[in-house]
Amino acid sequence: LKPRIAKREVTLHILRAFGLHASKRLGQNFLVDEVVVDSIVAAAGVTPGEAVLEIGPGIGTLTQGLLEAGAQVVAVELDRRLVEVLADTLAGYDGVRVVHGDILKIDISREMATAPFKVVANLPYYITTPILMGILEQRLPVSVLVTMVQKEVAARMVAAPGGKDYGALSVAVQYYTAPEIAFYVPPRSFIPAPAVESAVIRCAVRERPPVEVTREATFFRVVKAAFAQRRKTLANALKAAGLAAGEVAAIMAASGIDGGRRGETLSLAEFAAVANAWDKQK
Ligand code: SAM
Repeated sequence: LKPRIAKREVTLHILRAFGLHASKRLGQNFLVDEVVVDSIVAAAGVTPGEAVLEIGPGIGTLTQGLLEAGAQVVAVELDRRLVEVLADTLAGYDGVRVVHGDILKIDISREMATAPFKVVANLPYYITTPILMGILEQRLPVSVLVTMVQKEVAARMVAAPGGKDYGALSVAVQYYTAPEIAFYVPPRSFIPAPAVESAVIRCAVRERPPVEVTREATFFRVVKAAFAQRRKTLANALKAAGLAAGEVAAIMAASGIDGGRRGETLSLAEFAAVANAWDKQK
């Protein structure tokens, strides 16, 4: 049995042995909390033989937890130095393939031979949104995403209409998935400790969206317009996005939504009603 990398002294030993310094630029904060690693694996419900995509394995802390649970892991790491470390820390484990590359650039569907698969990651926080949105928009055959994110981002992902956290990210994540915050993680669970609190979020990917949308492009255009101008009414936000006053009035009448409301108060169903009314006019 290999020592658990999630222990503080083991992680410090590995970092020292390889002369590594965590790169701030690449969002490197290594987990040193076994309970957190086990809880992430449990939240993902990993069963033996299951395919998992791990983003940013670092020195292999979470990867090890996934492998101990019997997962078949493809781990994509951008930092070449860490790819070398992983060859050492994960030596002896079957079922792992480390890919050196940028998760925003590689062809994920090509790397993942088995479908569906799960995505499990302690994400680099500087690119959380592009990573999550990229995976969801590509409609990859993912069943569930379990990821560590900044606490504020988790709050935005699960936010209901009306509050300050509700925005384009909330709508998009809730359109593609059913998200829930699994648990919170304090800075001391990482080396180096990040400046922010973290949360593990579990997003079960939906088989079909929760609302009927005639054209997704229109739906997301309305959402984008509404939140680009948070302080404006929905009608004014749509005008600012290029619609004529007459068109906006007709859309509002057809959708039954009051154009005097702020976009941030609209539910997914109401955004869909506006978008579908717009599509009908085209
Ligand atoms: N999984 C490890 C853990 O839990 O201790 C490390 C997590 S650390 C927060 C984020 C990891 O993502 C780092 O190893 C970093 O090098 C890697 N990373 C940063 N940008 C990346 C990118 N564009 N593609 C793939 N990996 C990236």
